[in-house]
Amino acid sequence: MSYDGFNKKIYQAWNSFSPDSGSWYECFACKKNHANCLHHNFGRAGKKSEKSEAYNSIFNSVPINNEECHLPRHSTIKRNLSWLERVYRIVRRAVQENNYTLSQRDKNWLILQKKTYEKININITELL
Ligand SMILES: [Zn+2]
Repeated sequence: MSYDGFNKKIYQAWNSFSPDSGSWYECFACKKNHANCLHHNFGRAGKKSEKSEAYNSIFNSVPINNEECHLPRHSTIKRNLSWLERVYRIVRRAVQENNYTLSQRDKNWLILQKKTYEKININITELL
């Protein structure tokens, strides 16, 4: 997967979440095994925003295929709550299995989006 704002550790983490191959291939948009980038689910918050660091949290990242599934429908795939929930569950399991440690930006993201997670019945305090 290629670098586009998320740091290398986040790409490495996704690859480590793969059940078998050591690389994460599943595209969240269409389920095909062709993911090659990480989409910002809730956007990037703007370069000058003090929130932009948190928006590069793993919780805002979604594996997707750039050419087929990301760019063609970019405007229609913003703020997808089912993806937010799925990413949360994947990351939570990794934390519980000591396969991932939350960064400060991850914690900041959870705090920023506390109300969003409440809407999907997720209590972020279990990870803070
Ligand atoms: Zn796809």
